[in-house]
Amino acid sequence: MHYGYDGKVAVVTGGSSGVGLATVQTLLQSGASVALCARTESRLSDVAAVLVRDHGQDRVLARALSVLDADAVKTFAGEVESRFGRCDLLVNNAGQGRISTFADTGDDDWRAEFELKLFSQIHPTRAFLPMLRRAKGAIVAVNSLLAYQPEAHMVCTSSARAGVQNLIKSLSVELAPDIRVNSILLGLIGSGQWLRRFAEREDQSQSRADWYAALAAKKGIPLGRLGDAAEAAAAIAFLGSPAASYITGAQLEVSGGLSRHI
Ligand code: NDP
Repeated sequence: MHYGYDGKVAVVTGGSSGVGLATVQTLLQSGASVALCARTESRLSDVAAVLVRDHGQDRVLARALSVLDADAVKTFAGEVESRFGRCDLLVNNAGQGRISTFADTGDDDWRAEFELKLFSQIHPTRAFLPMLRRAKGAIVAVNSLLAYQPEAHMVCTSSARAGVQNLIKSLSVELAPDIRVNSILLGLIGSGQWLRRFAEREDQSQSRADWYAALAAKKGIPLGRLGDAAEAAAAIAFLGSPAASYITGAQLEVSGGLSRHI
């Protein structure tokens, strides 16, 4: 599907894998030039080589950095400005979840989790703000259903996710009317973290399809399966596009119906 990004520039953090990579691909297919970042240089350069092959050198910029490094993110924004001259969409996607209960979460774990969840939004937003303002652009935060539906075995991720959702709402007011700010709330998407957990499954003879199907049944996902990274990317591309021009401060669930709140 083409989401109408011809001539636009998008930035995707955590763009080397899963939802981030699917978003990069969707935006490139929709006409945007895309800058992506992630920490692991080798995986990023492998991914970038394929993107350049498919979409051309002039439409792809990849930089290895952590979104927790404010100076590196600022430098990245400067490179995007020099290379493309603008930024129309910022997708704050970089991160991962942490499995731990209250009993086995220490203070350093709490600090690390809050730092990751909040500063992965704060640093890129601050760095790209002047370009986003000039372009009258949009920010899409990739967040989790855990923000509204906490799980005890992911105690610090759930509470940090709730904080992110609160931050996004404030940003949507402070940055209006120039910049729209929305979020997606993911349920279980069959990418990064679930692939890692699949690799560590107890019964190594179980296929990925069977393991995912059993997981969907155990979690009670009404649509009966895990989501695909491309399905999350479609929601992100929509929220960042002109088709969502009157939507800000909103959250769109991509969970196969997993939410229990109204
Ligand atoms: P993946 O593990 O597949 O991808 C995560 C991406 O983020 C990678 O490119 C990774 O690259 C990058 N990344 C991680 N930390 C940093 C950092 N500090 N700075 C820059 N890049 C970073 O994850 P998913 O696609 O599954 O998830 C995408 C987002 O959605 C994450 O924030 C995740 O927490 C969230 N989410 C996912 C759910 C799911 O079911 N998949 C459910 C709810 C939320 P590298 O490691 O090289 O830095």
